[in-house]
Amino acid sequence: MITVIGYILTTLGFGGLAYSLFTVNTNKRYSWTSPFSSFEKTIIAVAIISFIILLVGIIMVIFSFVKKKNEDKLNSLKNLRNNNKCPNCGLNVTAGINECPRCHQKLNNIDGGFYNGKNNY
Ligand SMILES: [Zn+2]
Repeated sequence: MITVIGYILTTLGFGGLAYSLFTVNTNKRYSWTSPFSSFEKTIIAVAIISFIILLVGIIMVIFSFVKKKNEDKLNSLKNLRNNNKCPNCGLNVTAGINECPRCHQKLNNIDGGFYNGKNNY
């Protein structure tokens, strides 16, 4: 969902920025230097707002990718639990035991998986 909003904001920001730059390049009757007319001020405001929207959109897209990466990491951790591996050292352990025989990590068996008390997902 956040990815979609991010893409929309990026598109809107890019469009607004392109529009304002296009206006600056095509309206030769304006000097585009100080002092600015009200029309010039409007276009400059559009450019600034579009740039901010574009940045927010890009940040949202990056954030959604980072979030997805974290979810993938979490899923692989869950798979690790399902394979009855020690979450600390990765040793294959028998389901139902309370402590890893290699590193003595506390393992509380919950629904066939392990909860190590540290990563409370
Ligand atoms: Zn272990």
